[in-house]
Amino acid sequence: MPLDEIALEEFGLAPRWVRKGLTVAAPEAAAVDVAPASVVAEVVAAPAAPAARAAAPVEREMPRARVEERVPAQQETPPPVQPERVVAKPLQQPVQQTASEEPPPFTEDDFAWFDSVAEPVLPHDIEPVRAPRDDTATLDWDALAERVANCTRCRLCEKRTNTVFGVGDREADWMLIGEAPGENEDRQGEPFVGQAGKLLDNMLRSLTLSRTQNVYIANVIKCRPPGNRNPEPDEVDRCEPYLQRQVALVKPKIIVAMGRFAAQSLLKTGDSIASLRSRVHQYEGVPVIVTYHPAYLLRSLQDKSKAWSDLCLARDTWRSAGGGQ
Ligand code: SF4
Repeated sequence: MPLDEIALEEFGLAPRWVRKGLTVAAPEAAAVDVAPASVVAEVVAAPAAPAARAAAPVEREMPRARVEERVPAQQETPPPVQPERVVAKPLQQPVQQTASEEPPPFTEDDFAWFDSVAEPVLPHDIEPVRAPRDDTATLDWDALAERVANCTRCRLCEKRTNTVFGVGDREADWMLIGEAPGENEDRQGEPFVGQAGKLLDNMLRSLTLSRTQNVYIANVIKCRPPGNRNPEPDEVDRCEPYLQRQVALVKPKIIVAMGRFAAQSLLKTGDSIASLRSRVHQYEGVPVIVTYHPAYLLRSLQDKSKAWSDLCLARDTWRSAGGGQ
């Protein structure tokens, strides 16, 4: 084979070269002429041509140009190859493409085999996702206060001025729990300040109690909700471990829940404060009495007597629990 034919064959241009070399070609020959090597091999291996079958193994290994030179001779033996059979083969390129035609543009499918295959992730490669360990229940007072001061567990940390941890006797029998800091509490970092705080102090004094001697005061939520809105349930969930730890450290004999929100949060109920009053509930194993918030009593003086009744019930319950002995 001439060197230029070998070069054309090497670059896959041999079929095109053969077509240009033919001056007059029969339809069958032309169709075969431009077909890929696979089609030509199929023609050569036609089943009803014993002579051709015998020659087929040799011809499959021959360079494409030489195989094509022998095609007319094989067509002389019956049965003849039908043009329809050749055209019906699933060709990868247009059979009648001319040298002047541009090749079809590539599509995504043309490069499907370039897609990178993700490396399989083996079990030992996976970093186990662990929930942050909540060790709040093991903290002492100082560590707990520091944890709250730096807490960012919920969105309320974004707008607070101060966290409001709690105040009072850390070994008191009485524990008073409010809902969340208001504007004054947020500014001063102490629960129950302002007019509501003064009213509370007066009520406690009636029972010979004081936030500086025998009462500890805390809130369910340690940071002020913007606009004094009610805390969201998820905010309560995230903050409650701090209150639970405070209760565990104080070990009170009686808890007074002050206001609807505090009562509902502690008791995990949506019941009204009216239905929760005058009964003894439980929180973390400690008896709980529900009463009104002092800020509410400032606006509803007629309910002060009810609040006094609640405090008397709390005192009786405290005594029943061994308090005052
Ligand atoms: S409200 Fe409680 S949980 Fe939320 S940031 Fe303040 S201390 Fe943390």
